[in-house]
Amino acid sequence: EAKAKARGGIVLFSDELERVALRHTIVSHDLRAAIESDAFQMAFQPIVDLRTGALSGFEALARWRHPELGSVPPDVFIPMAEKSGLIAPLSALLLRRAARAARDWPSHLTLSFNLSAAQTDQPGTALAILSIIEDCGLPPSRLEIELTETAVLADLAIATRTISGLATAGIHISLDDFGAGYSSFGQLCDLALDKVKIDKSFVDRIVTERRAASIVGAIIGMCDGLNMQCVAEGIETQAQFDKLRALGCHKGQGYLISPPLPEEELIGFIARAERKVA
Ligand code: C2E
Ligand code: MG
Ligand code: MG
Ligand code: MG
Repeated sequence: EAKAKARGGIVLFSDELERVALRHTIVSHDLRAAIESDAFQMAFQPIVDLRTGALSGFEALARWRHPELGSVPPDVFIPMAEKSGLIAPLSALLLRRAARAARDWPSHLTLSFNLSAAQTDQPGTALAILSIIEDCGLPPSRLEIELTETAVLADLAIATRTISGLATAGIHISLDDFGAGYSSFGQLCDLALDKVKIDKSFVDRIVTERRAASIVGAIIGMCDGLNMQCVAEGIETQAQFDKLRALGCHKGQGYLISPPLPEEELIGFIARAERKVA
């Protein structure tokens, strides 16, 4: 055994591995318990029309406050739920929460919900989503499902079926994090997508790098040509906002406009937004 034989590096490494493995089982065990006890919250980030400034909807972002570890980010617990086979029940619970909140908003506001890659290529996903929102009383036309390109690429045949199932029901589909991974223009041609979300990594560079601005301009032009909307994510400065608007980007979200908000702050935010536009 490495542990018995070696001292120093290997022992440390092996102990570290054990710790990581242990922490992983603890957290995935806790994840199961958290699902059972409904210990998740949804935060909602406003999405606005860049031309008019009007509020157009919110993206739901999952939050988990772990009793000992504190707040665990979705980038950590979503992949964990995928690996431990818990993503379907977790996602159902999150969508139900988000849809219940969205039902009470003015009816022109949409709810964007992130679908995990592991679900996009599962048969039955579209039906599961439809039955949840119907149950919650949220019309399909007010829901927008965000898919990442990796999800769409994993199993194109099933993903295509999921997407057309959702689209047929009147649910909108957007391609999230566009440009960050292995985006293929072929997908844009073949899939029933309504929106493209330009990844934050482009928005970060849009003011300082002419080449980044060119690429964003080309994505927006392509969206216009394909009759899709374009949403920029991670807008942090007024300069980025102005640049995106000048390039013709339709919508945006980011800390400049608002961070993701707890559910109880939404009604106030919506009221202020409506007053500003009126
Ligand atoms: P995403 O869908 O691309 O969401 C955007 C992320 O950027 C969110 O991080 C959001 O809080 C953050 N963000 C928004 N504006 C800004 C900004 O101006 N600056 C910076 N630095 N960040 C900004 P979050 O909430 O940590 O979520 C991370 C990812 O986790 C999401 O990326 C999404 O892929 C995934 N995720 C979140 N909630 C869910 C969920 O309910 N289900 C699934 N399957 N995935 C989720
Ligand atoms: Mg998203
Ligand atoms: Mg994104
Ligand atoms: Mg992202």
